[in-house]
Amino acid sequence: MAYDVVVIGSGPGGYSAAVRAGQYGLKTALIEKQPRLGGTCLLVGCIPTKALLHTADVWDYFKNPEAEGIQCKDPRLDYAKVLDRKNKIVTKHSKGIDFLMRKNKVDVIKGHARLLGGGRIEVQGEKGNQTVEAKNIILATGSEARMLPGLQSDANQILTNIEILDIPVIPKTLGIIGAGAVGVEFASIFNRFGSKVTILEMLPRLVPVEDEEISKELEKHFKKTGIRIETGAKAENIRKNADSVSLSVTLASGQKEEMEFEKLLVAVGRKPNTDNVGLENTKAELDRGFVKVDGQQRTGEPGLYAIGDIVAGTPQLAHVATAEGMVAVSHIAGKPAHPINRNRIPGATYTEPGIGSVGLSEAQAKAQGFQVKVGKFPFAANSKATILGKHEGFVKIISDGRFGEILGVHIIGPEAFELISEAVAAMESEATVETMMSTIHAHPTIYEAVGEAFNNVYGLAINI
Ligand SMILES: Cc1cc2nc3c(=O)[nH]c(=O)nc-3n(C[C@H](O)[C@H](O)[C@H](O)COP(=O)(O)OP(=O)(O)OC[C@H]3O[C@@H](n4cnc5c(N)ncnc54)[C@H](O)[C@@H]3O)c2cc1C
Repeated sequence: MAYDVVVIGSGPGGYSAAVRAGQYGLKTALIEKQPRLGGTCLLVGCIPTKALLHTADVWDYFKNPEAEGIQCKDPRLDYAKVLDRKNKIVTKHSKGIDFLMRKNKVDVIKGHARLLGGGRIEVQGEKGNQTVEAKNIILATGSEARMLPGLQSDANQILTNIEILDIPVIPKTLGIIGAGAVGVEFASIFNRFGSKVTILEMLPRLVPVEDEEISKELEKHFKKTGIRIETGAKAENIRKNADSVSLSVTLASGQKEEMEFEKLLVAVGRKPNTDNVGLENTKAELDRGFVKVDGQQRTGEPGLYAIGDIVAGTPQLAHVATAEGMVAVSHIAGKPAHPINRNRIPGATYTEPGIGSVGLSEAQAKAQGFQVKVGKFPFAANSKATILGKHEGFVKIISDGRFGEILGVHIIGPEAFELISEAVAAMESEATVETMMSTIHAHPTIYEAVGEAFNNVYGLAINI
């Protein structure tokens, strides 16, 4: 019996695609090599990090309860319980995916899948090998942490996003190589839990994919809270000691410095899992290990689709994986399958202050020849931000002066990753700056700052 759809990989791309295929009444199977469903995002990415970040947020308030008028003697962080809470959240949601598979009549097959070509897949499982046949295959095998050449992660000193989530004790010193979303999120977590954190980044700024002003604001706040930041820095000669890691760092100034950390997190990007999945048996084309697809997520092999972190040209984000899965399944089911619009993909970085962004940065908009008009509004002038005691950051609107088109929105500040949803909805529905200026924002809310920033494209914000 051939399945209508077989999905390989149970991350946010794969499991969501399997659910949607089940909803459409397609005979579906999901293959996963790990014992638990959920992929990087649920098991060792988005969800456990955000659980720890939530605890870091709560702990921030306990560090200075007097500021809120609360007497609280000697609050203590019980890190074993913090980890336990994080693990329970992950387990709950992984079981939730098991339930969704049953609910949508998706067969779950455990084992390592390899494409054999022609709609056949070999699965090596605990109970031996089997061959599964499918009219359509969705490859959603995700990614894993890249390592620096010659370096290997271990459970103790040299860590990736996987090992760092389970270290039993908060390290006194933590070095982080890489200042993308993963690096800065862990910096934000462990700095607030009490580690002395140093970030080493080769590029000239933190979060290099964001608008330049966002990077500067994050750097300003990180430095204020005691994080050491070395951008334009090259880490070399990394050595493991008995209970620490040493490295030689060439700083931006050209000066060399020997550094030593109790733990070192390597967060230098993610490698697509396309090596060992049998792509050589298909006509799918690769670009530096990433799978090339068309607007409907089709590869060069008839009936083979690719979604998520393995796809060339789209950012490695959970919601992108899910959205691409919806496109692939819609196409398989013969329903409208609109290509992903890269310019409408929200980015969210869960630091303190947080970052939310969508569309073009100011520099990109200028480079593309738009008549750029910028509106900014600082959270320092927003009353709800004062109530929360979270004053850092701003909302920045990038628009085209000719027609009031919204080209991009960049937010750094309280709940920026939630606030960005309004901007995404505005851009998706092709609202103009004028539409957003007359959109009523409830008071007092932090999202009033978004309305004020739109007004400020024309210098018409009220509260500054
Ligand atoms: C620390 C960290 C934090 C992150 N935080 C966020 C965030 O806050 N928001 C966000 O949007 N993104 C975040 N991401 C990125 C997000 O996790 C990924 O973009 C997302 O998981 C990609 O989904 P996917 O479905 O493509 O693959 P994955 O989630 O990587 O899942 C792939 C699955 O395929 C399985 N698999 C691989 N090969 C085979 C095979 N041959 N046979 C069977 N199964 C196989 C794997 O075991 C895995 O379960 C974070 C990533 C990290 C590392």
